[in-house]
Amino acid sequence: MPALNKETVTIARCNRYDPWEVRAALEQVFSPYGGITTLIGSDKRVLLKPNLLAAASPFETVTTHPAIVKVMVEMVQEAGNRVYIGDSPGYDAQEKAHRISGLEEVIKATGAEALYFSDPVYKKIEGFRLWEIPLASELNQVDLVINLAKLKTHSLTGMTAAVKNIYGCVPGTIKARFHFEYPLPKDFSRLLLDAYFAVSPVFSLIDAVVAMEGAGPRKGRPRQVGLLMGAPCAIALDLVAAAVIGFSPEQVSTLAAAKELKLKGSNLNSIAIRGVSLEDCRVKDFDRGPASSGRFSRMLALFPFARIKDLIAARRPYPRIKTEICSGCRACNEACPAQAIGFKGSIPDIDEKNCIRCYCCQEFCSQGAIELVRR
Ligand code: SF4
Ligand code: SF4
Repeated sequence: MPALNKETVTIARCNRYDPWEVRAALEQVFSPYGGITTLIGSDKRVLLKPNLLAAASPFETVTTHPAIVKVMVEMVQEAGNRVYIGDSPGYDAQEKAHRISGLEEVIKATGAEALYFSDPVYKKIEGFRLWEIPLASELNQVDLVINLAKLKTHSLTGMTAAVKNIYGCVPGTIKARFHFEYPLPKDFSRLLLDAYFAVSPVFSLIDAVVAMEGAGPRKGRPRQVGLLMGAPCAIALDLVAAAVIGFSPEQVSTLAAAKELKLKGSNLNSIAIRGVSLEDCRVKDFDRGPASSGRFSRMLALFPFARIKDLIAARRPYPRIKTEICSGCRACNEACPAQAIGFKGSIPDIDEKNCIRCYCCQEFCSQGAIELVRR
């Protein structure tokens, strides 16, 4: 097996979720490591961790596309391994999320086993924010994890891809509790890095065949990017993915945190890109969404002092209910870790004094009835 350069990222063209095209692209992604068998070996229990944010159809681009999960299951099985698929959706039950996202079909067709993330087991770490982290106990049933992320905009962190995807290994409502305890993007991003290093996936892939632009991660618009990307280092992979869709590292809070901590993979100049060149795949007019694009994020990049950056970051947008399309389903109220959402009749009413601007409500509103507005 060739020596693994942790800061090598491979970009492969993949314009459709056609199984043959996906397979060819994935083989290209794994080729710098001598193929997937060389990379992960045989006789292992391998967990594939897709982005399963919510029960959403593949056309909504909320979740990792089932065609990619299916081909990955087949490749890992062909290498002589036992495959599991698991995640902890933020709001919907995992069975429902599997059914609607197409993963149930993948499980039936391939014989992969579903792991339903339930109780946490606390793992001791020397993290950037945590000294122990609650991870799904089911992770103890597997030997290694492969991270199957989706490329989307994200209202809190700017962009969600490989690093943030691992946060799904923190089960259930604990995720919301951490939002409450670490409301600033900078602190929350350090916690996301804690989760990433605690799980330590052997390899990360990003499904950017069709990404999500605009008001991600739940209600943005599908955007054809036509790429599959992969790397052992999720930070390096996210940095390259961010460059593809026009984010600077300062506009993605996980990358800004990694850069501040001088983590490996956080400097684009030290990353070797294989396959398609970065210049050939940049998407120049990608809509980076309301929370991170424009003047606000560019201002953050200009200020060298952490305290000034914190003050600017505190002026983040507030959620506002679009009453004309709200269905009164109360999902936002249940998702709010700060209990800042009451009701006036059937319409939610946000108490801005208590709102910590975590945007969980926007993430879990299936109607797209919550927008972010600046004062
Ligand atoms: S989740 Fe959305 S649709 Fe449901 S009550 Fe809240 S704002 Fe309205
Ligand atoms: S109202 Fe929305 S943004 Fe504010 S704390 Fe609650 S979930 Fe977070």
